[in-house]
Amino acid sequence: MNENVGTYDVVVAGGGPAGVVFGYLMARAGMKVLLLEAYRDFNRQFRGDTLNPLTMGLLDEMGLMEEVLALPHNKVDTVKAVGAKDIEAFNLTYSRMPSKYPYVMILSQPIFLNFMVAKASAFPTFSVQMQARVNDLIEEDGRIRGVRYKTADNVVHEARAQLVIGADGRNSVVREKARLETRTITKEPTYVLWFRLPLEAGDPPEGLVAREEEQTTLFMFRRPDEWQVSLTLKKGVEYKAWKEQGVEQMRAAVAEMVPQFRERMGAIEWKDTSLLPVELKQALRWYRDGLLVIGDAAHIMSPFGGIGINLAIRDAVHAANILVEPLTRRNVQVRDLKKVQDRVMWELRIVQGLQAKQQDSAPRPGEVIGLPPIARLMLRIPIIRDLPIFVLSFGLVPTRIGRRFRKPVPRLVTAAGD
Ligand SMILES: Cc1cc2nc3c(=O)[nH]c(=O)nc-3n(C[C@H](O)[C@H](O)[C@H](O)COP(=O)(O)OP(=O)(O)OC[C@H]3O[C@@H](n4cnc5c(N)ncnc54)[C@H](O)[C@@H]3O)c2cc1C
Repeated sequence: MNENVGTYDVVVAGGGPAGVVFGYLMARAGMKVLLLEAYRDFNRQFRGDTLNPLTMGLLDEMGLMEEVLALPHNKVDTVKAVGAKDIEAFNLTYSRMPSKYPYVMILSQPIFLNFMVAKASAFPTFSVQMQARVNDLIEEDGRIRGVRYKTADNVVHEARAQLVIGADGRNSVVREKARLETRTITKEPTYVLWFRLPLEAGDPPEGLVAREEEQTTLFMFRRPDEWQVSLTLKKGVEYKAWKEQGVEQMRAAVAEMVPQFRERMGAIEWKDTSLLPVELKQALRWYRDGLLVIGDAAHIMSPFGGIGINLAIRDAVHAANILVEPLTRRNVQVRDLKKVQDRVMWELRIVQGLQAKQQDSAPRPGEVIGLPPIARLMLRIPIIRDLPIFVLSFGLVPTRIGRRFRKPVPRLVTAAGD
């Protein structure tokens, strides 16, 4: 027997939110699961930290929420945007949401991913391989039968499975190798610069604030131990030309928007920042016989609205609910995989359409962030006022954990978050 070949029920490529939640649920249902993650650990580049009320409700149904609440986190219950001249553009609150958890939980992704993997590892049918980069699919008679992946020692392995899940994010290799076509929804990328600043006494208490100046819009997310700051270049501001104005100009722009950050910005150099071109994409079809892509591999989300993690987890839950029976019968059909896409696709079209519209009509230099007067007026009507936050909190597709996954499981672990 070739020791570099393994056989599983499910192989999951990618240990992001979609992959770890799907892997956990499948292991909980007794499936033999292999989770492959390209990096050595989960301390990858910042990819957001927000869990919305729907996700917390799902974790509650899985019986995990008590332990999740014990992990270091912050709570945010308002999202506030302050335009030029300190005019408040909008101030939306989660506190009226009909949920046991009416807020956004800011929970560092590495901590969350480690936690989920620790919980999954309590099941004997679950295994995880870090530094395992999927680079090809095994295809026989038109059906995907598994993946090939390379480990840190440069050895190529094969993992064969009833089902391959591509949860390998925005630049998905699985999607590419499966030849699943994508369409780009935004007209042009928006450039966002990210960096961290230390948290200090006297900082604004709000968890999430947007501000703006002539050329950029700033979003600041209060994490338990630091600020994560993003500077979005306004439409028409070219990154290269903007950067050539010098680091001092960037520091001054931030200080103008958030005077408390002036001194802290003195220590920020270009090397401390990372640039992300934001483009929205959608895979037209998420599946092939024997394979399904979920999360950002199926629909690349923008960071705006803080929903990408939550939609990735939501995909994982629908996929697990729909596929657990066919997997148990060892008879996963293309129509089962199609059901997963059909369940959520209509909503994604709306959400990504709105994100693209927001991105494509973002302010130009001199224009201010904010809502048109009619929208401001409508937001004074209570039922309409809460609608945007309701959609951000719960989405439009009803989502619950399937009965199969609800039965209590013993509290076996955890050294989570370590
Ligand atoms: C800068 C930024 C900030 C964001 N902020 C937020 C936010 O605040 N809230 C929010 O909800 N969303 C946010 N998002 C969006 C969110 O990060 C994504 O929508 C979400 O992470 C998607 O989860 P996923 O599991 O599908 O993919 P990912 O989180 O991208 O995970 C994919 C995983 O697959 C691994 N991988 C990749 N290729 C391979 C391979 N070939 N083999 C094996 N493993 C592989 C990667 O290392 C990664 O761990 C942000 C995105 C960005 C870029």
